Amino acid sequence: MNHMNPKITINLDKLTHNAAQMVKLCQSAGVKVSAVTKGFCAKPQAAAAILNGGVTSLADSRIENLRKFQPLAAEKILLRIPMVSQAEQVVWFSDISMNSQWETIQALNEAAKHKGVNHGVILMTDLGDLREGIFSETEFYELAKKASRLSNVEVKGIGTNLTCFGAIIPDEKNLGQLVTMADETANILGKPLEYISGGNSSSIYLLQEGKLPKGINHLRIGEGILLGTESAYGAKIPDMHYDVFQLVAEVVEVERKPSMPIGTIGKDAFGNIPIFEDKGMRTRAIAAVGKQDFATHNIKPLAKGVEIVGASSDHLLLDITESDIKYKVGDELTFSLGYGAMLALNTSNYVSTQYLGHGK
Ligand SMILES: *Cc1c(COP(=O)(O)O)cnc(C)c1O
Repeated sequence: MNHMNPKITINLDKLTHNAAQMVKLCQSAGVKVSAVTKGFCAKPQAAAAILNGGVTSLADSRIENLRKFQPLAAEKILLRIPMVSQAEQVVWFSDISMNSQWETIQALNEAAKHKGVNHGVILMTDLGDLREGIFSETEFYELAKKASRLSNVEVKGIGTNLTCFGAIIPDEKNLGQLVTMADETANILGKPLEYISGGNSSSIYLLQEGKLPKGINHLRIGEGILLGTESAYGAKIPDMHYDVFQLVAEVVEVERKPSMPIGTIGKDAFGNIPIFEDKGMRTRAIAAVGKQDFATHNIKPLAKGVEIVGASSDHLLLDITESDIKYKVGDELTFSLGYGAMLALNTSNYVSTQYLGHGK
């Protein structure tokens, strides 16, 4: 099949390389990596490329995504606090889920009993970012105690999530607190915890600086592997590929147009009142991709002299006046992607996927 435009290209060889690099970085600190796959909508070919890099555990926020990994020999972790209404699917398609609610853990226990399996849970504590997790330390220990008495649920660890809602950066203080709570939980349960899960790609900088508190033995890494960047400060991780995922869109119109719209300005397609700068006549191109595909997230043209001037649902408007290339209808333009755009594009039904390389 030839790949229809717009398309997202996924370089599997580069993805395998990034996964291997991340495993190496984490191994040096005794940390196990779960690769987070929601950024590419859990496409199995891409997940397989990550496993070929030496990762043994895959994690996703949606059970529908983990379901696609059934044929893959890897541990599967559900990241988002499960829905009670999905308890059955959760124990079917994941080995471990991250939890904070007693009702949900009970529902998972019932579903696991029904299926005749054991389901692992990592209990989430909120250390200040204020997304998921139990806020009160006492209530955390009470939940751990109650959960440990269930027949088909096994408390496998403690975890926290940072730099998501409150943009709180992981540091020696909050992750130190996680390790202290892990010790106390292990005391209460009378057994060591398999997972002390110290966050996402925003914890990578601590690894690099050798400051990840001793005891943290697990990280859930999406961005670091997929984009090669850490997410506390947005820095590039050395020796990674930063262009595993790219968008390719096709030019459908090239016209000379004034930079100022003509007539009375009202509201644009999204209800905003636009402001324009008069730059005279410009050469404009339209590429056939839009906010329905990448939402309001950033994408960046690779070619010099190509500038995005705006987008509506299905049209990307580009100023190509400064470009040395004479673009014509049918030409393809390539864009680099941030995390949000990568996630949205991989989820769009209108964007095809082209795999490059083999990921071995
Ligand atoms: C998405 C997610 C991650 C991965 O985040 P990255 O910044 O991409 O590494 C980790 N943990 C949880 C709970 C998540 O929802």
